[in-house]
Amino acid sequence: MTDRFRDRSVIVTGAGKGIGRTIARVFAREGARVLVVDVDAQGAADTAATIRKDGGRAETCAADVGVRADVEVMAGEALKHFGGIDVLVANAGIFPSVTIEEMTEADWDHVHNVNLKGAFFCVKACAAQMRRQGGGRVLLTSSITGPITGFPGWAHYGATKAGMLGFMRTAAIEFARDRVTINAVLPGNIRTEGLADVGPEYLRKMEASIPMGHLGEPEDIAYAMLFLASDEARYITGQTLVVDGGQTLPESALALESE
Ligand code: NAP
Repeated sequence: MTDRFRDRSVIVTGAGKGIGRTIARVFAREGARVLVVDVDAQGAADTAATIRKDGGRAETCAADVGVRADVEVMAGEALKHFGGIDVLVANAGIFPSVTIEEMTEADWDHVHNVNLKGAFFCVKACAAQMRRQGGGRVLLTSSITGPITGFPGWAHYGATKAGMLGFMRTAAIEFARDRVTINAVLPGNIRTEGLADVGPEYLRKMEASIPMGHLGEPEDIAYAMLFLASDEARYITGQTLVVDGGQTLPESALALESE
């Protein structure tokens, strides 16, 4: 445990498992008070219990980021427990796979509602408080899928992850004078619990497409977030940080064969 974020109030959405759980744990290890937010109340409780067991401080909030009233309650809970909001990590996201031919309007709307509208709701609910406090940090979990790459089955997902960046750039300008920065981290393929079912052959193929030769760990995303939330990153806003082990670099598979 260090003191870099001692007593800062940090909200992490989608923190009931996966990358968000690790982001919450890493901020707590740095001394922050963390509001663990997830649509899955049990997942949020488990993350908070782990943080407390490690000696950190955490509260929980069951909220669906796609529901505006839930997100307003979330911001209120952070104020109630911690007295302010210093950092918002809008991380919650879903990635159901379906081809465009099979995709229904409801599929499209659901993914947009959680990933893109959810990010908007979270920023809207928290940024005014940050402005009142004289500053704050917003971090978005985008993806390489959409802003940089494509993958069959994820047209709707990619649209939301690219859309988050369009939203971010204007938000960064609107809040710049208030010392509220807003940046995005773009993860590549990260090793989360969700990958347990994909099988060794699929994993091997994924790893073969990454110049570093292995998947990222949730900590790799959390450390990028930590930097963008730090005092040292105070002059960085509206930017993207790709954390992908070089996955988006090769111009073709040949670039990796010559290694
Ligand atoms: P994950 O393991 O599925 O965890 C996401 C968490 O968010 C789950 O606990 C989920 O609950 C929760 N959640 C889902 N919908 C929600 C909602 N409407 N409101 C609040 N919480 C909600 O996902 P992950 O792999 O950690 O991904 C986290 C973020 O990273 C996402 O934005 C994703 O797009 C992005 N990302 C991930 C990767 C990767 O390789 N893993 C790569 C690029 C980007 P339920 O389980 O109950 O649905």
